Amino acid sequence: MHHDSFMTHLLLIEDEERIASFVEKGLRSNGFTVAIAGDGKTATGLALTGDFSLIILDLGLPDQDGLELLESLRGQGIEIPIVILTARDDLDDKVAGFEGGADDYLTKPFRFEELLVRIKARLRDRSVSKAQAQPTTLGNGLMQLDLRSRQVKVQGKWIELPSREFTLAELFFQNEGQVLSREQILNRVWGYDYDPGSNIVDVYVGYLRKKLGSSCIKTVRGQGYCFQLSMS
Ligand code: CA
Repeated sequence: MHHDSFMTHLLLIEDEERIASFVEKGLRSNGFTVAIAGDGKTATGLALTGDFSLIILDLGLPDQDGLELLESLRGQGIEIPIVILTARDDLDDKVAGFEGGADDYLTKPFRFEELLVRIKARLRDRSVSKAQAQPTTLGNGLMQLDLRSRQVKVQGKWIELPSREFTLAELFFQNEGQVLSREQILNRVWGYDYDPGSNIVDVYVGYLRKKLGSSCIKTVRGQGYCFQLSMS
């Protein structure tokens, strides 16, 4: 998808056409470009293109719960601001939304001006936090994960990791020394699109062990896996 670089491209996930076109019209007249997804599957495909600066997310979608979608997008490394726009005004939903990684939460009915102000604020936050120095590597001198090149350094050598292996490695590096259950790993690395009975986690842990050294990912019986950075 091609768009002018000075235009801010937003992804609107909304199944109600009337609301979608109302929001789209307002955003366009304020200089944004907008893509609309009416269900979770389309939304995921679009979000993964990486073309967007912000997502507006409705929670009641025909094929998937919006909170689930939110978690799955975050689990797949989508880090752009996500503003929830929903009829659900339950405190529980709000809490779940923020815990699931939303940056803002606006309930319907809403005024377009308020949505616009919030979108602009979230875009601004993000450009501020981007400007601050963010770590681009995780790990230590002996074992390092480069988040930009998606490579891992083991015994002085950089190895490129395929997409899922990288996501799994990133999860391990971020949770070093903690036991992660298979379910947590499935959720974070494969998102909603998995069969809880599958052994895919074990298979990918096997791939990583081959590359990082088998001793750094310990199997904790009945609980899951624990990653430990090599210290020598
Ligand atoms: Ca809806």
